[in-house]
Amino acid sequence: MNPKILIVEDEQPIRLAVADALRSEGFDVLEAADGLSGEQMALREGVDLILLDLMLPKRDGFTVLRSLREDRLAVPIIVLTARGEEFDRIQGFEFGADDYVVKPFSMGELLLRIRALLARSGGGAPGVSGLSDRARFGETEVDFAAFSVTCGDRRMGLSRRELELLQYFLRFEGETLDRFRLLSDVWGTEGDPTVRTVDQHVLKLRKKIERNPAAPEHLLTVHGVGYRFTRAAMSPDR
Ligand code: CA
Repeated sequence: MNPKILIVEDEQPIRLAVADALRSEGFDVLEAADGLSGEQMALREGVDLILLDLMLPKRDGFTVLRSLREDRLAVPIIVLTARGEEFDRIQGFEFGADDYVVKPFSMGELLLRIRALLARSGGGAPGVSGLSDRARFGETEVDFAAFSVTCGDRRMGLSRRELELLQYFLRFEGETLDRFRLLSDVWGTEGDPTVRTVDQHVLKLRKKIERNPAAPEHLLTVHGVGYRFTRAAMSPDR
């Protein structure tokens, strides 16, 4: 499968030139002309890498960057910044950019950076190795390599944390997993999480893997304890 790259850039000549060049290199390319639709595509489409302009209509690149990372979308992001544009490198990296190029850039330079980042992230997600790339249960199919999940006719992106949590549930299918165990095994001490963090991620995950997130059939609540995952669709809360 070709790597899928999303380019979020409002300047049409640049967007089209980059998209054409990437397609001729064998990449699948998605295009967004403003920050809001770019952010939505990034979360929905399960892309492998994002090229993100900063000065964008509707939602600026920094806001998009920060909000994608808050959602723990783990794909590499290269910021496209214009010469003379106020770009704070430190702030960019703090917000979760992996790299940046200054416009005007050569396609050769951009391709080098894209390939380097894809090589670094390619299959290198912690916890992915040794497990199958795909899982299927009920109407849901998960593509771990692409960080995406399809449920019925919905396809959504998975953040790295959601992916790790789902892998953990799959590994311990049928066992009741209490929140503290999930917290220590999936989160560790990173970011000083609380059991509320677990609940919030379970809610997010249900929206992606459950046919009806309000009445989960796979990721079940075990009241007062935690959660239990099953591939076979169960009636809710049993
Ligand atoms: Ca722009």
